[in-house]
Amino acid sequence: MIIGVPQEVKNNEFRVGLTPGNVRGLCKHGHSVLIQRGAGEQIGLTDESYRLAGATLINSAAEVFAKAEMIVKVKEPQAQECAMLREDQMLFTYLHLAPDPLQTKALLASGATCIAYETVTSGSGGLPLLAPMSEVAGRMSIQAAAIHLEKTHGGSGILMAGVPGVMPAKVVILGAGVVGRNALQMAVGMGAEVCIFDRDIDRLRQIDMLYGNRVRTFYADPLLVELEVCEADVVIGAVLLPGAAAPKLVSREMVRKMKAGAVVVDVAIDQGGCFETSMPTTHTDPTFIVDGVLHYCVANMPGAVARTSTFALTNATYPYVEALANRGGMMALTQDRHLRNGLSVHKGVLTSEPVAKAQKQAY
Ligand code: NAD
Repeated sequence: MIIGVPQEVKNNEFRVGLTPGNVRGLCKHGHSVLIQRGAGEQIGLTDESYRLAGATLINSAAEVFAKAEMIVKVKEPQAQECAMLREDQMLFTYLHLAPDPLQTKALLASGATCIAYETVTSGSGGLPLLAPMSEVAGRMSIQAAAIHLEKTHGGSGILMAGVPGVMPAKVVILGAGVVGRNALQMAVGMGAEVCIFDRDIDRLRQIDMLYGNRVRTFYADPLLVELEVCEADVVIGAVLLPGAAAPKLVSREMVRKMKAGAVVVDVAIDQGGCFETSMPTTHTDPTFIVDGVLHYCVANMPGAVARTSTFALTNATYPYVEALANRGGMMALTQDRHLRNGLSVHKGVLTSEPVAKAQKQAY
């Protein structure tokens, strides 16, 4: 199979869909890999390293899209990329279609077969291709919160860890999945006072076993959420209903009652966010203020640590890329129901039920 990797075009996105090591693996299986020149240069993955691994370097994204049978990317395709997709082509990348009707329409119009990393499942019920980026974003969320708590960054002027004799920041984490647990680990490590909410009691049990009374765990009862959010210095949004729009746990009214200078990091923004006041932002202009509360809603947080993220992501995606290439795409999808769970759009038909529901479309 001919596999194409274009350079990412989203704002400040330096990750790349395949590493030179992945290229070597695919070439060993007899596949051809086309890499757009410069795709990994910004994170130290040079054109020369791809060439030595066996890739063919291509000058433009248009040429990569024109020649490849499967496109492997990181972020959802932008409008100009959707326009280059073809009916006989496969796209394997993050899509986050639920809150994005425009992209959905463009992918349907392309006729391509589009598989979303974020809804591929594992035998244990997890989301193996979302998990590595959720680990990165979860860890980064506390870093971002700590910086934005500083007065010069718009926050209330509270040091996350406090100092002897002065209270640390009070951190509330909504969602105890991969993002939430990684945020928790960092917040505890920094010395914050932390509580975490979920609707899955087993997740709360695991956290209780690990952290004991160092962390307060709560069932996500709306009244309790409101009480804790209104007292918080930092709130991390980390809930997910797979493939669907994020549930809004924090209303505009609740934000109005929050402390002035509190920091919200809505990691779930790529699924629409779990604060009614959230809007997607970029690394160039990451924050905005609503009712005195600073919101950080960057939709591609791991892009900021693009080198770590590229290796973390491709460690997880590579076995699926290899399976799709070795088995000719459709056969891999037919044989592996977990990979098939990632299939979102196929030959002009929407094949993801949660996306169809979120957009009130036929499924
Ligand atoms: P996950 O499935 O591991 O965890 C989500 C948790 O939310 C689960 O424990 C679930 O029980 C809980 N939940 C669902 N509905 C809830 C509710 N109403 N109340 C309380 N808890 C509820 O998902 P994850 O991997 O942690 O990802 C979380 C979000 O972060 C996703 O939207 C993901 O796409 C996003 N994400 C964003 C970035 C970014 O750059 N902004 C990066 C990675 C992941």
